[in-house]
Amino acid sequence: MVKEIDIVVVGAGPVGLFTVFEAGLLGLNCVLIDNLDKPGGQCAELYPEKPIYDIPGVPFQTAQEHVDALLEQIKPFNYELILNERVEEITEIDHKDDKYWSVTTNEGTKLTTKNIFIAAGAGSFEPRRPPNIEDPDKFINKGVTYAVRSKSTYENKDVFIFGGGDSALDWCVELAEKAKSLSLVHRRDAFRGAQHTEEQMRELVTAGKVNLLTPYLIDGIEGSDKVTGVSLKNFDTNEIEHYEADELLFLFGLNKKLGPILEWNIDLNGKKISVNTENFQTSVEGIFAVGDINDYPGKLDLILSGFHETTLAVQEAYKRLYPGERVPFGYTTSNSKLQEKLGVKK
Ligand SMILES: Cc1cc2nc3c(=O)[nH]c(=O)nc-3n(C[C@H](O)[C@H](O)[C@H](O)COP(=O)(O)OP(=O)(O)OC[C@H]3O[C@@H](n4cnc5c(N)ncnc54)[C@H](O)[C@@H]3O)c2cc1C
Repeated sequence: MVKEIDIVVVGAGPVGLFTVFEAGLLGLNCVLIDNLDKPGGQCAELYPEKPIYDIPGVPFQTAQEHVDALLEQIKPFNYELILNERVEEITEIDHKDDKYWSVTTNEGTKLTTKNIFIAAGAGSFEPRRPPNIEDPDKFINKGVTYAVRSKSTYENKDVFIFGGGDSALDWCVELAEKAKSLSLVHRRDAFRGAQHTEEQMRELVTAGKVNLLTPYLIDGIEGSDKVTGVSLKNFDTNEIEHYEADELLFLFGLNKKLGPILEWNIDLNGKKISVNTENFQTSVEGIFAVGDINDYPGKLDLILSGFHETTLAVQEAYKRLYPGERVPFGYTTSNSKLQEKLGVKK
């Protein structure tokens, strides 16, 4: 489906989320796209439980509480959040006798917009692949997954989970009752996840509901069109063992990658996108970069800097959508449209 949007935001970290608020105040709609399975960027993915002390007017908030507050704040506004998709391509197109952008994701979603805001932080978070397997992605969604999108995928299946951190332990506990059989594979018999979850996992092993394979390493994926089995190296015996398998869930953590952004023909300074500080537009008209991804003299990788940047960028986006019109400026304290949306009674 192709949709026309006022602002397409690449990345749903704190700065992407706050863009919806500033755009909403001017009556503009946004679509946010993030390749993670949840909004919040670094805050939600890297340090949800750490306290943040430098959000103006908020003496203390955990990073996840900060994300939740931003989501609450943008509730009144018109936006859509597309998760688990990475923006791959940006192409200039002629539309309504004007220059627009076509934005395409790796899942084939296409959006048409006049303004792209790149709020991509340090790049997209990409799952780490098993290092010794050649092209595991040829089985993607045919027995190989790197995140749980739907628990039903693993129902009544022979499932192997790989990893030794919180995600591997959490999903092991969560899927043990749903899978036909569940094996947890890790290269050593020590786990990095929460002790409580490890204890739950070991209780499931004792109850015969989880098959714990340590110290083991994947050696090969078996199958032609889809996964039918897996071979594992047992480090105690140095033997290769073969198992029937339907689903292999690799939970080895995430890498940060600029990835497709490098192909978008925008001026970069190292791994950052160069912008002007008047409206945070990049070297390409209609493409803005806000938050940690951008670079300008004096740049600080702080959430509050990103909020300032996107506020000014949204003003320019409005001017591009409504040339010649004055950008409606007003304080939120006296913005009657916002108050109406919030259901505030005077
Ligand atoms: C441990 C730690 C503690 C911190 N503490 C503080 C603090 O106390 N105060 C403070 O102000 N800052 C702090 N920071 C920094 C702060 O988290 C960042 O400044 C902030 O997250 C930047 O927000 P952002 O929205 O620009 O990018 P991010 O939070 O990085 O979000 C970017 C999102 O874009 C997505 N993305 C990237 N490319 C694509 C693509 N092609 N398609 C789809 N999605 C894409 C990514 O997956 C990611 O979810 C801390 C950072 C860390 C790591």
